[in-house]
Amino acid sequence: MTRSAPRASRDAPHVLIVGGGGTGGALAHDLTLRGIRITLVERGEFTSGTTGRHHGLLHSGARYAVNDRESAIECIEENAILRAICPGSFEENDGLFVALTDEDMEYYDDLVEGCKACGIPIEELAPQEALRMEPLLNPELKAAIRVPDATMDAMRMPLRFFATAKHGGATLYNFMEVLDVVVDGGAVTGATVRDHVTGSVGDIHADLVVNATGPWSEKIARMAGVDVPISPSPGVMLALRGRLCNMVINRMHRSGDGDIVVPQRALSVVGTSSWTVEDPDELDVPEDHVTRMRVEGAKLIPAVAQAGFRAAWSAARPLIGSKDAEAGRELSRTFKTIDHAGEGVEGLVTITGGKATTLRGMAELCGDVICRKLGIDRPCSTRSVTTLPHTAFYAETERRLA
Ligand SMILES: Cc1cc2nc3c(=O)[nH]c(=O)nc-3n(C[C@H](O)[C@H](O)[C@H](O)COP(=O)(O)OP(=O)(O)OC[C@H]3O[C@@H](n4cnc5c(N)ncnc54)[C@H](O)[C@@H]3O)c2cc1C
Repeated sequence: MTRSAPRASRDAPHVLIVGGGGTGGALAHDLTLRGIRITLVERGEFTSGTTGRHHGLLHSGARYAVNDRESAIECIEENAILRAICPGSFEENDGLFVALTDEDMEYYDDLVEGCKACGIPIEELAPQEALRMEPLLNPELKAAIRVPDATMDAMRMPLRFFATAKHGGATLYNFMEVLDVVVDGGAVTGATVRDHVTGSVGDIHADLVVNATGPWSEKIARMAGVDVPISPSPGVMLALRGRLCNMVINRMHRSGDGDIVVPQRALSVVGTSSWTVEDPDELDVPEDHVTRMRVEGAKLIPAVAQAGFRAAWSAARPLIGSKDAEAGRELSRTFKTIDHAGEGVEGLVTITGGKATTLRGMAELCGDVICRKLGIDRPCSTRSVTTLPHTAFYAETERRLA
């Protein structure tokens, strides 16, 4: 059952969250349940950043089990929690890791061992068993491993967190952009915002400001004169007409280009590539990346080569680490909360990194830091609170049409 939060009292501490992606939404939900007054501002439509533009894979963690075990463990833990607190939001279709070459087979034992070490349940399959499950797979496959991946709607799943936060008393504004932070006596005490609906500019004051702007988090941090080591790392995705698989199909090797096919409604989404950029507002969709998605995807499922084009787009990961052009693929998918008091600026906390799959866990960690700072002794309860369905979001959110 959904437990609605007690509405924060008028004199409760006030936190301003900047960024209405999955991370900001999950944090609004977490803090509302802890009795904190929340205002969240998003410069565009909710989830219009990276959150609304990813593959829609609820990671089992297997993709990271060999090279990035911290992320793999976060993913499998959150995978189980999200299925429980967001019932009906996932197509519980599982995933296959498919070996096509002798080189892929060299990765087999590492993947099995990595999954076991991270607590990711697997089932080892002979080629014929995999083909029975997914008849359009490359018939030359050498082996497959089944993992508890699942598929989600990239926008609707996080909307549940927004809906539940709003229901608990959080104030959520879309089309409201932070232009600058308000600094008083060396501490951040709020933000100057432009309301793109009315055109007005004004300040919102708060006891604490949280920078939850994902790949944009360096820009907000700079407004306060601090640094966030974020590498915006885009990837291209290609949507093809027709559902070529029912499970999530991954290539059994170190993560590479075009090595994943995710079924989404009547489409198949092939992803992805990886590079790094200075500015997440300057994303292009390189034609050679689109071609590579089709070529590599067709190795897993030959019908990818002929399937009709539906769309190609890119989105930027908020990866923690240096902006080395080659680094995107190697950077960890884990997440981090940074209390900028450590750099001499009170009143500002950044939450960044992670995956859509780990949005709740990110919010829990950040919520603990915020509560400590505000002197609030209330534990996180989001592990067991069922979120409202995504449809409640529209009923719970004031109409703000651009
Ligand atoms: C190619 C690709 C594929 C991926 N696939 C998956 C997947 O299948 N499964 C998975 O779990 N994860 C996936 N991810 C990762 C996942 O999408 C991200 O980790 C997650 O969406 C980040 O959410 P966020 O809320 O931190 O950032 P965002 O969703 O980007 O939210 C930040 C928000 O801040 C807003 N903002 C920026 N500046 C301002 C400002 N000045 N004022 C107000 N608002 C502002 C932006 O508009 C944006 O909406 C993928 C990522 C990429 C790039």
